[in-house]
Amino acid sequence: MEVRTRIAPSPTGDPHVGTAYVALFNWAFARANKGKFLLRIEDTDLARSTKSSEEAIFSSLKWLGLDWDEGPDCGGEFGPYRQSERGDLYTGYVAQLLNAGHAFRCFCSKDRLDVLRASQQKAGETTGYDGLCLGLSKEDVYQKMAAGEESVVRMKVPETGECVFEDRLRGSISIAYDQIDMQVILKADGMPTYHLAVVVDDHLMGITHVLRGEEWLNSVPKHKLLFEYFGWDMPELIHLPLLRNEDKSKLSKRKNPTSLNYYKDTGVLPEALLNFLGLMGWSMPDEREIFDVQEMIKALDLDRISTSGPVFDQSKLKWLNGQYLRKLDDSDYQQRFLRWLESSGGLERLLPLVKDRAETFSELAPISNYLIGNRAELSLTDFKGLPLELDLSKKILHHLLAALDTQVEWDRDSLFERCGTLASSMDLKMRDFLSPVFVAISGKKVSLPLFDSMAILGSDLSRARLRDALDVIGVSGKERKKLEKDFIALRD
Ligand code: GLU
Repeated sequence: MEVRTRIAPSPTGDPHVGTAYVALFNWAFARANKGKFLLRIEDTDLARSTKSSEEAIFSSLKWLGLDWDEGPDCGGEFGPYRQSERGDLYTGYVAQLLNAGHAFRCFCSKDRLDVLRASQQKAGETTGYDGLCLGLSKEDVYQKMAAGEESVVRMKVPETGECVFEDRLRGSISIAYDQIDMQVILKADGMPTYHLAVVVDDHLMGITHVLRGEEWLNSVPKHKLLFEYFGWDMPELIHLPLLRNEDKSKLSKRKNPTSLNYYKDTGVLPEALLNFLGLMGWSMPDEREIFDVQEMIKALDLDRISTSGPVFDQSKLKWLNGQYLRKLDDSDYQQRFLRWLESSGGLERLLPLVKDRAETFSELAPISNYLIGNRAELSLTDFKGLPLELDLSKKILHHLLAALDTQVEWDRDSLFERCGTLASSMDLKMRDFLSPVFVAISGKKVSLPLFDSMAILGSDLSRARLRDALDVIGVSGKERKKLEKDFIALRD
């Protein structure tokens, strides 16, 4: 049997390091077994999926050298490989489940479901659909549909018993059916949800092994039921351990840069990043830390993956990158450095900002160094020298970071607007509000225009600098809680 694996990212937001991590293991496993590795775009959430995010996924996987044999861009026998283009196909499978009595139409309104959820939460019960529409007769359904009432399709779930399944790394797992919701499989807009689409596509695309993040383990009972309803075999499951922040919580952009763009833009070499990701939960049989992907492919043994959460340790990644940089010969080093300078995208966007400010090339560097490379290391004195109380600088940086957590648009005008709203809700003049931000971002009291700078640096890098500045000022756990409360109060 040919091994067929896939990476199935949803194109929402920046390309995530988690996608690269999961892709690496799927890719290496397929390559080790002379199988095929597929790229499938899971864009059934039309409101959140974007073309630019899809393109960023393609280019960052290419940058890493994780090539795919079938995908939306290169086609293949089992296409289309973009779920939004497979719509009609899912409707046919949903009809099959409805006819066989494995699924049912649900006409419950959002209001009803909200009330239901709130009452379940209040009673400390597992939240989920209560099965009201299960009682509808065929005629009721027909009439409601004829009257144009909006509906979704939900899958049926046994009321009692438990689902038992195998995960290659964890062995046998059982989850009681009363913990499993009657999942919506077809939305009112006619699009399938992830749970239906993943089962149908993994089957039709002949996927033999599903390597994906541990966060999907609890969804397996739904998938297994669907595989059974259709009478299909389920692929082998290998749930990779979640990447974690240093405090062991799930890797989040709040605490760590998670965008692949960040790593590319800060000059991490793709081979170093792959090596680093290969060390997440896995190790070479001889425990050697430095290895390339070909060596990884040769030695890959899924049973050596450990399920304890690997920490995404930035200093280790930096160390590893240094090892790789030092191995380059001088001309290679020079070429790659120049390519990085050009490709990090900054230079092009930087020029309009600096052109009027420099008379010679040599003047460019001191003005714009913080946008090309790291900014200067900060010290407490940098903030003490500001005309603001230290505590206020701390508050500003904290609140700005919290506000930027939900910031999607990362251009000059949106950032200006965000800061403007925050400054006024904190009763601060924009100039005062921005003074610690200037220092955090540029390392200087005066720099190139701040919002342009942040736009050039991008979300992950800007946030990393704000976080670092906050660490330099120092925030105790107690203070952080207080600041969080204060920020929430501002929004209300
Ligand atoms: N679209 C899912 C994701 O974004 C794929 C999960 C899976 O691999 O089944 O992670």
